[in-house]
Amino acid sequence: MMRELIAKIVVPSFEEIEAQRQFITDQIEVIGSERINQLAKEAARVRLNAYEPYSHYKVGAALLTRSGGIFTGCNSEAISWTQTDHAETSSVTAAVKSGEIKRSGRTFITALAIAVEYNENNKAMGPCGNCLQRIAEHADNCILIDADDKAKIHRITSLRTLFPYGFSPETTKI
Ligand SMILES: [Zn+2]
Repeated sequence: MMRELIAKIVVPSFEEIEAQRQFITDQIEVIGSERINQLAKEAARVRLNAYEPYSHYKVGAALLTRSGGIFTGCNSEAISWTQTDHAETSSVTAAVKSGEIKRSGRTFITALAIAVEYNENNKAMGPCGNCLQRIAEHADNCILIDADDKAKIHRITSLRTLFPYGFSPETTKI
């Protein structure tokens, strides 16, 4: 009985993890270090506009679209908390609002940089789960760049690494 349950365990395979490493490497080469650093700078710049009187946690985000556009967002809080806009989703909305769906189609995100005050004890890698779902609506996969408030890049991963089994229009046939 226990063996039957063990046979049902789902975790990414070594090959799937290596495929993500290759995807990230390829995307870094395609997008280029100059553009990636520019995204980190834009995220750090817009972070300063965050409205965070309750959490005191400023976040900036900058996404790169297939058509080459850069769109930014920052967190903006409300006293009732649950209406808070996150930086990542607000950058997605900015891109949609500008007509990016018409220019690039639904999956327009190629890279997204997030800037926060860096803390080496922070093992979490943004975006949060809610924002990952919004990003998955507009990217089958994309690279995610963790930067600090000075735009120094600390870590680079991919949407599929952080969100391997999430809902997406591809994986969810409804
Ligand atoms: Zn979020």
